[in-house]
Amino acid sequence: MDGIPLSKKIGIIGGGITGLIVGIFLAREGHKVSIFEKNTLLSETSSKTTKLLHGGLRYLENFQFNEVKNGLNDRSWWLENFPIHTRKLQIYIPFKNMFSLVLMKSFFGIKLYEFLAGSKNIGTSSISQQIDNHNLGIKDNYKTYLSFFDGGMDDDSLGRELIKIARELDIEILENNEVKEFDPQGNIDENHFDKIILAVGPWSKILLEQNNIKSLKDIDYIKGSHLIINRTLESGLMFSDKNNSRYIFALPYKDKVLLGTTEEKVSHPEFPEITNDEIEYLIDSFNRLLNEPISKSEIISTYSGVRPLIKSKDNFHKSTRDFFIQENDSLLTIFGGKWTTSPSIARKIVTMI
Ligand SMILES: Cc1cc2nc3c(=O)[nH]c(=O)nc-3n(C[C@H](O)[C@H](O)[C@H](O)COP(=O)(O)OP(=O)(O)OC[C@H]3O[C@@H](n4cnc5c(N)ncnc54)[C@H](O)[C@@H]3O)c2cc1C
Repeated sequence: MDGIPLSKKIGIIGGGITGLIVGIFLAREGHKVSIFEKNTLLSETSSKTTKLLHGGLRYLENFQFNEVKNGLNDRSWWLENFPIHTRKLQIYIPFKNMFSLVLMKSFFGIKLYEFLAGSKNIGTSSISQQIDNHNLGIKDNYKTYLSFFDGGMDDDSLGRELIKIARELDIEILENNEVKEFDPQGNIDENHFDKIILAVGPWSKILLEQNNIKSLKDIDYIKGSHLIINRTLESGLMFSDKNNSRYIFALPYKDKVLLGTTEEKVSHPEFPEITNDEIEYLIDSFNRLLNEPISKSEIISTYSGVRPLIKSKDNFHKSTRDFFIQENDSLLTIFGGKWTTSPSIARKIVTMI
């Protein structure tokens, strides 16, 4: 007698990092996977990130320990499996005063970050009076630096590598293929599947409701913008913005400086664009640190994306970056997450399938 067939026919809607990694994990389990993507793979939110593979040091401020720990675990998954496209990045936080409360708080936060990483820790933090190999002149009144390690990626080359893996695993990739209708019985337009995974990032709630399926989660649409600046950096910087209300990163990226990000609530996820206010906010915040201020003419390019954050009771700055999976019969919908934690999402989906 034949056994129960374990291989399932799976349709994934959305070809961002979540859909792609979930597809790869499922195909490796022997399932037959098709990915429907409205535009091209990895062209939306997944190409608009700060390019960090991280647990999210700043989420510790909101006591999101589990989430940070998961992110740190996944960070090492990326660094170990894709060493050519990822790297360990040293990031410095500058302080004016060696004996400030903020420095002490940051120091203990970073130590907790390293503790949560456990055996997956990638480097030890330290306090120093100057930065090694820094090409940007930092003002002399910044006298102390706290440094820690996180992961960085070249998302272009990493993305190409993942698409190559997906093709080698015989995943059917259907680009420029916008799904209009799907249902919990396994139908995507006129195709039938054993399971459907809705991995459309910021569009999850909108698409569920368009298909008359109740969304169990509400989404905050938070736009974030970045600038690529014509300067160079050896290591990263993390510093308070000009209002001293949140952190911004300046990171080495393809021999230039990647500066970001902003957080601005928007009403929908379509066509996010950087505003003049965001450009000025990022430049003014960075210039507080620099001997030679950056001018707008040094901006090579800009990009903006919309974070699909699960709505929280607090203000959106404190929204969780954690993910949630809604199950309706044969339909699994993914909410939230980060590029870094897409392997955790994929592991969870594999178990559910
Ligand atoms: C400013 C910013 C900075 C960030 N920085 C980081 C970072 O440094 N590190 C990190 O780990 N994470 C970061 N993130 C989070 C990360 O970008 C997202 O969590 C991740 O990219 C979400 O991937 P996704 O596949 O879920 O969504 P997306 O990449 O948006 O993919 C969803 C896909 O679904 C497609 N789609 C939508 N509707 C349909 C339809 N009807 N039919 C077919 N396809 C459809 C879209 O075209 C899109 O390609 C950042 C996010 C932002 C916005």
